[in-house]
Amino acid sequence: MDWEIVIGLEIHTQLATQSKIFSGAATAYGAPPNTQACLVDLGYPGVLPVLNEQAVVMAIKFGLATHCEIATRSVFARKNYFYPDLPKGYQISQYELPIVHSGHIDIATSQDGFKRIGITRAHLEEDAGKSLHEDFHGQSGIDLNRAGTPLLEIVSEPDLRSADEAGAYMRKIHELVRYLGISDGNMQEGSFRCDANVSVRRKGDAQLGTRTELKNLNSFRFVEKAIEIEAERQIDVLEDGGEVVQETRLYDSDRDETRPMRSKEEANDYRYFPDPDLLPVVVDASVIESIRDGLPELPDAKRARFAEQYGLSEYDADVLTGSADLADYFERAAAAAPNTESKTVANWVQGKVIAALNEDGLEIAQSKITAAVLGDLLEKITDGTLSGKLANEVFDAVRSGEGSVAEIIDERGLEQITDASAIDALVADVLAAHPDQVGQFREGNHKVLGFFVGQVMKATQGKANPQQVNEALRRLLAE
Ligand code: ADP
Ligand code: MG
Repeated sequence: MDWEIVIGLEIHTQLATQSKIFSGAATAYGAPPNTQACLVDLGYPGVLPVLNEQAVVMAIKFGLATHCEIATRSVFARKNYFYPDLPKGYQISQYELPIVHSGHIDIATSQDGFKRIGITRAHLEEDAGKSLHEDFHGQSGIDLNRAGTPLLEIVSEPDLRSADEAGAYMRKIHELVRYLGISDGNMQEGSFRCDANVSVRRKGDAQLGTRTELKNLNSFRFVEKAIEIEAERQIDVLEDGGEVVQETRLYDSDRDETRPMRSKEEANDYRYFPDPDLLPVVVDASVIESIRDGLPELPDAKRARFAEQYGLSEYDADVLTGSADLADYFERAAAAAPNTESKTVANWVQGKVIAALNEDGLEIAQSKITAAVLGDLLEKITDGTLSGKLANEVFDAVRSGEGSVAEIIDERGLEQITDASAIDALVADVLAAHPDQVGQFREGNHKVLGFFVGQVMKATQGKANPQQVNEALRRLLAE
């Protein structure tokens, strides 16, 4: 039987505001428990929430970047439920009238180039606190530092058809929120997490199957794995003549299985109603326009510009625009190396620079080799001062703090030998010292050319210009 998998994602992204969505308490991660929870976050009676304007601006930025409608009037509602990490007994969220709705993004697919994924809505809400089960024996602790942290919940249409597409969509949203500067996207710290709704149906069926919801997936890998496993499980159930139960399930990455968590609640279980403590959010068209004017260049546009302006392959343009910081680094390095091919700059950024960052555990903005230094170094290859191999050596030396590019070339005497008569003399010496190999070459064994190059390099500690050595060898051997 041919089955089709249907997926819709709900992504919770923590907005990068300084203070909480309805209080002045700080949002910084990792503070000692309950040191960043004020009376509003603790849900004390009589306190009043005050909306953080920056959270609204950030939601609008997201909406504009995803071709969504921005509601000029949106409303906060109370979503009522009981849980120890939610002391006031309700979460403030948007329900009927979200601030952002009806848009789309395009994801790259292997088959048809790209696919358009609908964005149903993106609404503002507050996060809950955390229960701590590990720190206290036989008891649970409650940490309300996270309570009231602003979230943007981004809900997709059920347009995704495979785990790969879901992963691509999630990565794209992740890239976008970081470009927009509205979230740090830190998945270890829970700033970017996802619930996946999964159903299956027989190919050609018009109706969607019954879905389950996989909660709190906090890595791209887990989202993909969990969807694959869950779809397989549902197909097995249906092929055995059973029915899929609509429920919330948990993905267990250790056992690579999903298991039921609770039966799916319906919206009316939450008794949503407009929060009487908060006025509707009314946004002027002029405010929306000024936010639009302030948007940075977005990933798709940057990718297209990189391919065009620098003549890069789609792959290179894609990698280099993976984050705004990486893209900036590349552009500054390219500007600092005006005589060097963009492709060479791209290769060094993607190769040496990223490898060094991974080794040092640093972000691109903290790179020990600045874009200016990289540009400087690459110009030294372009003008023939350094071979690629020696440039590698200089790169490592600068990285370990031994000095500037010029200082290291000078101190180590690394300047490449490019003087034609000097190279001819070196090559002639090597040929004279190896008459047997010269004989082999003349009998047609051209592989010995590599041997000669190696000998010249050995004699010069790798400083002879390899192209010129090759050229001289061929010329002198042909005589
Ligand atoms: P809820 O608020 O109960 O989570 P929604 O109707 O808002 O439900 O849908 C949440 C998510 O579930 C959306 O991303 C939507 O695309 C997805 N979804 C809805 N129906 C299905 C289905 N049959 N199969 C897969 N995903 C679905
Ligand atoms: Mg849901």
